[in-house]
Amino acid sequence: MPVRFASLGSGSKGNSAVFDDGVTRLLIDLGFSLKETLARLSRLRLSPENIDGILVTHEHADHVHGVGVFARKYHIPVFLTHGSYNSKQIGDIPVLKKINCGQNFEVGSVEVQSVPVPHDAKEPCQYVLTSQNISVGVLTDLGHITQHVKASYRNCDALLLEFNHDLEMLRNGPYSDLLKRRISSDFGHLNNLQASEFLRNLDLDCLKHLVISHLSEKNNSLNLARAVASKELEGWDGLISVADQKSGFDWINVAI
Ligand SMILES: [Zn+2]
Ligand SMILES: [Zn+2]
Repeated sequence: MPVRFASLGSGSKGNSAVFDDGVTRLLIDLGFSLKETLARLSRLRLSPENIDGILVTHEHADHVHGVGVFARKYHIPVFLTHGSYNSKQIGDIPVLKKINCGQNFEVGSVEVQSVPVPHDAKEPCQYVLTSQNISVGVLTDLGHITQHVKASYRNCDALLLEFNHDLEMLRNGPYSDLLKRRISSDFGHLNNLQASEFLRNLDLDCLKHLVISHLSEKNNSLNLARAVASKELEGWDGLISVADQKSGFDWINVAI
């Protein structure tokens, strides 16, 4: 079975992605209620029993809202940094695997690389998952790109990348000045230009799929984000997809 990945939904109201190599299935974050999670899993032809673990990126509610309830009900191991755990936003976890940010570890047949990122949480990290020589990177919720992030994601075959906001739309939009400053700060979220500039650092011979993710509903438009990404990737023969809030995206198979 080829390595494949999908999303239950992406945006400020809830995030969760799934990685599946045919042996091991992992969720990355779970920001949805139990009812929503079950409905969204079934759209991907999955049930809770299919899930072998949840990797948590950080403790913001749009990433962890559903983690505790789901993990307790179905006895699913949860991997998270000490800082994310100490934030006390997740509740009791029956099978708790604390990790050091930056550590690599294995879950079943999947190699997991945790990558520290600059974001306003206790100990945030993002993940690169590798199996059968195929790497899928998830990179959202960071205020700027560090050298370490560049190096860690360079050879991804597929990448879910944050295109959170358009800077002009954020500046002219409805949010308070405080929130605008937080989102656009070095510890906030990537804007469209930051995300597209990051693409220059990737090995585009490796990259086959780019998924525009964690779009702000108020401060971005899909057309804008897609236009910026397409311009940057002109001549590249991979596929650009979008993870939206309502339904994420259906399975994408990654072939070598
Ligand atoms: Zn988020
Ligand atoms: Zn966040």
